[in-house]
Order: sequence, then C-alpha cells, then structure tokens
Amino acid sequence: KLKVAVMTSGGDSQGMNAGVRSVVRVALSRGLEPYLIYEGYKGLLCGGEMIKKVEWDDVSGFLTSGGTFIKTARCQEFREIEGRRKAVLNLVRLGITSLIIIGGDGSLTGADMLRAEWKEHINTLKETGSITEAQAIYNKNLMIVGMVGSIDNDLASTDMTIGASSALARICESVDALQSTATSHSRAFVVEVMGRHCGWLALNAAICTGADYLFIPEDPPTTNEWQKKMCSSLENSRSVGKNTSLILVAEGAIDSNLNPIRCEDVKGVIEKHLGYDTRVTILGHVQRGGKPTFYDRYLATLQGAEAVEAVIQATPESPSLVIGILENKITTQPLQDAIKLTTQVADEIQRKNFSMALKLRATTFIN
Ligand code: ADP
Repeated sequence: KLKVAVMTSGGDSQGMNAGVRSVVRVALSRGLEPYLIYEGYKGLLCGGEMIKKVEWDDVSGFLTSGGTFIKTARCQEFREIEGRRKAVLNLVRLGITSLIIIGGDGSLTGADMLRAEWKEHINTLKETGSITEAQAIYNKNLMIVGMVGSIDNDLASTDMTIGASSALARICESVDALQSTATSHSRAFVVEVMGRHCGWLALNAAICTGADYLFIPEDPPTTNEWQKKMCSSLENSRSVGKNTSLILVAEGAIDSNLNPIRCEDVKGVIEKHLGYDTRVTILGHVQRGGKPTFYDRYLATLQGAEAVEAVIQATPESPSLVIGILENKITTQPLQDAIKLTTQVADEIQRKNFSMALKLRATTFIN
C-alpha cells in the first residue's frame, strides 16, 4: 500500500483541519495508508509517537473546527541539512513515500528542499548503515504535494488560500463592531489587520466594511504626501455626512521609501491635523481563530481530494506540486513556479517597483 503522510506547518489557518480530514478519508477510500504528522516539521524530526497511522474515525469532528488539531510549529532544525536528514530517516523507517503539507510558502519551500536533497540523504543513510539497502530502494523517491494554508492569501498562482476567507469574515465582523461604537462617539478608528507582506486581507476588508482610507504594501503612498492626502480624504467623508472615520492598515504597510506605516503614526497625524478623537485597534490573533467559513471547508475538502489524486498519479519524474484554485477550478501546478512567483512579488516591492508587485498579485487582487 502507498503510504502518505499529511501535516500542517507554519502559521495556523481555519480550514487546515478540513484539509487533513479530506486527505485522510480520500486516501483511505483510494486504498492508501494515511499517516498524520503532529506539530509540523518538529514532529517529522522527532518521529515516534509524532507520526501516527490513522483510520477513518481519527479525523471525526475535523471538518467544522478552526485551528489545527494535529498542531503546527516552527522548526529551526529543519532549516539545517542535518535536521532534514533526520526527517528522511523517520519517513524511510515507516516506508512513507509521499508527503502532503498544508502550510504557507515557508513550509512549502522547506518541503521542496527536502525532496531536492532526498537521494543524497538516502545514500548517506545507507552508507552509514542507518537504513538497509532494501529500504533505500523502496524509498528512493519522495513525492511532495502542497496545499496552501494561510490566512494572508499571499501565495501567487492561486486565487485563494485555505483560511483567507475565514480571516476576512472575522475582520469584517470585528470592524462592524467597532463601527457601532465609533458612531456613538464620532470617533476615528485606525485598525491594523494581518497579512504579513500581503495586502489582500486589508484591501478586501476595506471594500467590505466601507473604509475611508487604506494602507497596503503593494501600493505604498508617497512618503511626505500621504498625511495630507489621508486627511483630505477623511474630511471629505465627514463633509458628506459620515460622523466616523475608518482607516485600515495592513501589518506590512509601508510608504514609498519602504518605511513601515504604523497605526500609532496614523493616529498621530489624524489627531494633530484633524483633531478627531482617534483609537487604534490591533485585531491580532482573533483573525486566525474560530470556525472556518463554508468556503474554507469546501476549498480544503476539494483540495485534499486533489492532493491525494496527485500523489496517486505521481511518477519519479513529477515535480513537487501545489494545489490551488484559479477561476473557480482546482489546479495542480509545479510548486517551484508558485514559490518563485511569490518571492518575486516581495523582490519587486524591495526594488520599489510597485506597479509590477500589483500586477503580480493579479490573480488575487481584482483590478
Ligand atoms: P509558513 O509556512 O506559514 O510560511 P514559516 O515561514 O514560519 O511559515 O515556515 C514554517 C517552517 O517551515 C519553518 O519553521 C521551517 O521549519 C520550515 N521552513 C521555512 N522556510 C524554510 C527554508 N527556506 N528551508 C527549509 N525549511 C524552511
């Protein structure tokens, strides 16, 4: 039987559990032997109890729950070649030949690295007598399939990542709640939303909550001009009858000189130039919490099924793959292309080539 392991890694996101459930159950129904790896790469390196063979009932209750029951972690040791060799040893000992990783671009980059070094590790382990000749032959290849679990929606080449819809829904609920108290006191609220270096959550939250001003990393305002522009925009909203102001700041927001834009700075500008009573709210981890929306359950379930199919169809020549969704169709693409394109967005921002950064976000940022 083909043995396939699934793990969640990096930052957690709503819908990861649904993805794990889908992989396990589709694997079982397709005659595969599924394993769960606990705590991401940390569990893969530890082995033992952290890698467990599972059955249908072991993932009961996963579909509708947020977070990740099999836990996630960040693992420094996996970044080193010796750490990755330990991971190889644990997989070979169990005869696992395919790995499905639900995580962000960091986790998927690490997985691809593991695969690139696989043959070298197998040879070293064989030479040092850690594994037998038969094990080396049985485990001569490792297939990697990624599913993108990230609230940030920051991976190029997919329209949506697992968790982004739930995080956006939570942001909208929270901002709606702030709006009612803002109205009572005619206040301005400066709200920081997550997203790391991606402005997708902030942009879409701004559209869906009717924000007056927005700061995102892909479209930075001019260093010495944003203060004036923002104030006149807020004044405009007030002059047409609004008695509140809502400013959304992506956590990775910067100005055109790549200086971070912080909520406290924005508040300072509003108070100084407009005199509005202004409060800052950092939404924080509430954005990662709670139940997944229907969309994240649905996306993770369909993608889990596709990931198992990709494992079944794989040949030794197949590249590592990533499952995505483009124009409402589940896609399977080479993982390296997706990572390269994602890294390119960050590079273009660093080069201050903001129009290109926006263009590269084209699949997720509707123009
Ligand atoms: P995310 O997957 O959400 O982007 P991280 O970037 O923190 O989260 O990555 C999660 C884990 O993946 C890291 O703790 C590390 O073990 C592994 N990882 C990330 N980047 C690399 C890399 N370049 N090489 C090897 N492993 C990596």
